[in-house]
Amino acid sequence: MIVAIDGPAGAGKSTVARAVADALGIGYLDTGAMYRALTLMALRDGMAVSDGPALADLARRHPVELANGPGGVRVHVRGDDVTMAIREADVTGAVSEVAAHPDVRHEMVARQREIMRHGDWVCDGRDIGSVVFPEAEVKVFLTASVDERARRRHAELVTRGERVDLRDIRDDVERRDLADSSRAASPLVVAEGAEVVDTTGMSIGQVVDRIAGLARGVAR
Ligand code: C5P
Repeated sequence: MIVAIDGPAGAGKSTVARAVADALGIGYLDTGAMYRALTLMALRDGMAVSDGPALADLARRHPVELANGPGGVRVHVRGDDVTMAIREADVTGAVSEVAAHPDVRHEMVARQREIMRHGDWVCDGRDIGSVVFPEAEVKVFLTASVDERARRRHAELVTRGERVDLRDIRDDVERRDLADSSRAASPLVVAEGAEVVDTTGMSIGQVVDRIAGLARGVAR
């Protein structure tokens, strides 16, 4: 079974997706982490984020490794643990441009399908229900108001000890919404057959129960 969770930045997809995977006892794949890890490699190598074919080649030569552990997902590239580094502002600022290249998406989608070829998975991203697994048994489009999403991301960064301005975060959320929804290659859309879950005012537990319930209904 595949549970596909798509939605805009800051809707709580990774937190919810990981908890749903735990509740169901199945694997979790964070596709955003794959695009982020590629972006980090490119920045570290001083590559132009406008060069799609070169970025796709980098992705092919150095596939991102994701390992589920008790503390969450660990992300490795070229033998380095980049779990924390991929969440930093320089990566967040460049990732949407990297992810907009069709060559890059082609490479990433192939790898995502390969990882999820066997077994049951919860997978979150922007194009899982629409492109990667249109045949997914459960499709959810997770969203929340821009203000709520900006507040959540702000709280998360503050908890990590970062000093950030709520207005800057809100601008970044809006900028990424626009970039992800308006790109030509696999824009963020509500996939056919997806259940739209607006999490504004809902607790994480409520959202997890709702999606796990949908999955259990299908598995029955
Ligand atoms: O989910 P997260 O916010 O970490 O994703 C980072 C970026 O990666 C998104 O803003 C989007 O540009 C890109 N992405 C994508 N397709 C996916 C997952 C992420 O284009 N399936």
